[in-house]
Amino acid sequence: MPAKTILVTGGAGCIGSNFVRFALENGYKVINLDALTYAGSRSSLVSLDDPKTHLFVEGRITDEALLGRLMAEHRPDAVVNFAAETHVDRSIDHPETFVQTNVLGVVVLLEAVRSYIAGEGSPQRDTFRFVHVSTDEVYGDIDKDAATESSPYAPSSPYAASKASADHFVRAWQRTYGLAAIITNCSNNYGPFQFPEKLIPLMVTKAVREEPLPVYGKGDQVRDWLHVSDHCRALEMVLTRGRPGQTYNVASGTGYPNLEVVRRLCGILDDFKPRDGGASYGDLIEHVEDRPGHDVRYAIDASKLRTELGWSPEVAFDEGLRQTVRWYLDNPDWIANVLSRYDGRRLGRIRQER
Ligand code: NAD
Repeated sequence: MPAKTILVTGGAGCIGSNFVRFALENGYKVINLDALTYAGSRSSLVSLDDPKTHLFVEGRITDEALLGRLMAEHRPDAVVNFAAETHVDRSIDHPETFVQTNVLGVVVLLEAVRSYIAGEGSPQRDTFRFVHVSTDEVYGDIDKDAATESSPYAPSSPYAASKASADHFVRAWQRTYGLAAIITNCSNNYGPFQFPEKLIPLMVTKAVREEPLPVYGKGDQVRDWLHVSDHCRALEMVLTRGRPGQTYNVASGTGYPNLEVVRRLCGILDDFKPRDGGASYGDLIEHVEDRPGHDVRYAIDASKLRTELGWSPEVAFDEGLRQTVRWYLDNPDWIANVLSRYDGRRLGRIRQER
């Protein structure tokens, strides 16, 4: 049987590039469309380029003509959509960009897929798969227990609202046009190739520069942390065996307050790269003014994915965190490369304000 071809959108970002690597290792062909915003980098895809299996195309999911051309030429069997603006702080500063990509972009992508599968020689509507990668943030603050797939959406930030909105559009295209779409809502990812404005790589990057480590408020916000490799395995299971029209939560089930994560990370750094004079990196922690509207606790229940598809996470948090810190210490060139195209003032501003 010929390899399945997937159109991956946003495949130069953190989860997307890890997924592209995973898909290629598992025999898929990948057409990788990414706008290469500040968060996307070709350097995350080094060694994956191969004209037979992986084609990278720079472009936006809002470009319907480009999407149409790519699908007509490469005849994908599925779309896995990662393309998004993803940083909550940025969504507070510039919400419109989030609506543009995360909402309008998804609608354009859905329409491009609808035209493609209506065309002659395309995969059948029921065999084509549209996997939309979403977040646990759509459920908002969860004061006790954990959100299930039927919990109400209650997004707090412009980022979460844009993702919630996109999820509704995907569901509508499934109900109205019969698109075989599946939504995944995943908790906080960590691992290699994550842009150094997200908590874990930001802290490692600042710690090795001996800069203050800014922790929002008391640092008591609880997040569930999942290694990106576990997320990628879940997505492939959903792609091949998930039921169209369904939503699957993806989470490790282990929640930690942010301050605890930063302390553990500092302990790992103390071990790998001791500071001069025997000080701990933990001494660099600084509590800064909390983010407006900051959710206190996210928790989602992934038992549907576990029981229906047999998924379970393989990477324990402590081990995954050690591997991740090691990866950032071993890859200063990747960090320098992604930061070289970045609005450096932002990292500087974080340093000054927080
Ligand atoms: P990221 O910010 O690292 O990468 C996003 C990628 O999308 C970048 O490569 C960027 O260039 C690309 N992109 C942005 N706008 C685009 C456009 N208009 N057209 C094409 N490409 C565009 O994000 P990530 O952390 O890898 O997240 C990927 C997806 O997973 C997002 O949809 C996000 O909402 C979701 N998600 C992320 C997490 C997490 O913890 N990071 C958790 C759950 C869900």
